[in-house]
Amino acid sequence: MAQKPLLQLPEFSNVSTGTFVVKESLNFWNGQRVQAKGTKNTEPVYEPATGRVLCDLVQCGEEDVDQAIRSAHSAFQKWSKLAGMERARVLLDAAHLIRERSEQIARVEVADNGKTILEAQGNIITAAKCIEYFAGIAPTLAGQHIQLPGGSFAYTRREPLGVCVGIGAWNFPFMITVMKAAPALACGNAMVFKPSPMSPVSAVILAEILKEAGVPDGLFNVVQGGAETGTLLCHHPVVAKVSFTGSVATGKKVMEMSSKGVKQVTMELGGKSPLIIFKDCELENAIKGALMANFLTQGQVCCNGTRVYVQREILPQFLEEVVKRTKAIPVGDPQQQHTRMGALISKPQLDKVLGFVSEAKKQGAKVLCGGEPFTPSDPKLKGGYFMSPCVLDGCRDDMRCVQEEIFGPVMSVMPFDTEEEVMQRANNTTYGLASGVFTRDIARAHRVAENLQAGSCFINNYNKTSMELPFGGYKMSGFGRENGQVTVEFYTQLKTVVVEMGDVESLF
Ligand code: NAD
Repeated sequence: MAQKPLLQLPEFSNVSTGTFVVKESLNFWNGQRVQAKGTKNTEPVYEPATGRVLCDLVQCGEEDVDQAIRSAHSAFQKWSKLAGMERARVLLDAAHLIRERSEQIARVEVADNGKTILEAQGNIITAAKCIEYFAGIAPTLAGQHIQLPGGSFAYTRREPLGVCVGIGAWNFPFMITVMKAAPALACGNAMVFKPSPMSPVSAVILAEILKEAGVPDGLFNVVQGGAETGTLLCHHPVVAKVSFTGSVATGKKVMEMSSKGVKQVTMELGGKSPLIIFKDCELENAIKGALMANFLTQGQVCCNGTRVYVQREILPQFLEEVVKRTKAIPVGDPQQQHTRMGALISKPQLDKVLGFVSEAKKQGAKVLCGGEPFTPSDPKLKGGYFMSPCVLDGCRDDMRCVQEEIFGPVMSVMPFDTEEEVMQRANNTTYGLASGVFTRDIARAHRVAENLQAGSCFINNYNKTSMELPFGGYKMSGFGRENGQVTVEFYTQLKTVVVEMGDVESLF
């Protein structure tokens, strides 16, 4: 059976034919695509691999946001009353539809984001798994029974929060949308989601799929826009929670706005994670791990291990191999299956990353490879935002490239001598999203994992993700968790019901 085209376009995203242009509205509430009234601002959305305009994005204004939130509130009344098993059945149908159309969604994601088709295919399947995981959790939501004297007792109920807002970053557009929607809906909430204006396309695909799977109209809504629209969402009185993924700077603003209405928040923020490679490691795995820790999605991954500390004795061997393999990474058309590095999200992001490299050079770092704009041979990609992946040697902890989140394909390598020294240096950061260690010494591996101040630690691997694993930050990388069973705590509230079996003892 032919697949239904997701965006009713004559042809799906194809960089080589350049036919992918979004003409339909990307806003969705009350169960349908809506032409937003919008603010005065429209923003062009560019295809990272070509620099072509994909669409002009209408930023949702006050009336649009209010309509989306009201429709969510009304759907919440029905959805929250369903049994967990019923919610699970609908979510499983949605996951099935995503799997069926994963190739189409991945093509759209590549056009919107610039990441390679190989990675996008994996991201879409991970999103389907996320829905399957939380569908499995929906029927298990339960409270506790607590015995009290005289036969009295209490019980707790895990209840949904109501209308949750999701605000997403652009680096994993579809996955981030799903990682917020799936647990929210599984727990009985409704959601209004605002994607990043730099990658606005795939969220509405999720909205259509959920509708097709049978969620009530208004349960999952998409409003488009940037800071102005996000501000309206955070201030809206009906909203119970804001789950935010993005930079620390914006996260602080979202927390401040949400605090006015005492709304719950989850903060998934940036990182500058350390990867520690001891001389007793399995070197081949450590090299592969360092590449995986730095170059996925053009280095635009929040949990990347971008501060690579290598024990001095193995540094020359490590660098030789890492540089050889980095130079061999095929950069180019992200829609081609063999490409391993696509385009960065935007021209300003590309300039920012290249700026980090030139400043690192001025501060004394040595560029061992890459760090330059890259122009693929295909003329259609001439306007794309490509760069060659970069390895920096001779970095110091006080350099900007080591202290700040670059969010591009730049690995900063530094030598260390002792475990004590490297632990102190690794933790000397305001971030705490992820970390990694390569060693064959099992006791050391667990000691290092215990002492690293980060929400995740990978032992003898890096960036291994799975929906069963809680993900989130320490320190300024945020709080709250996504994925894993614990996420239920961030999308529900606990009610205690106290039952008296005797007479009331009154002091009055
Ligand atoms: P950003 O902070 O610029 O934007 C994130 C989102 O916030 C966007 O949707 C944006 O439109 C919205 N926004 C901007 N101003 C707002 C305001 N005043 N009120 C409400 N919303 C507002 O971040 P980005 O550039 O899109 O993403 C990159 C950052 O995200 C990096 O720091 C990266 O580490 C982080 N990130 C973190 C995770 C995680 O899970 N920890 C995952 C992906 C990305």
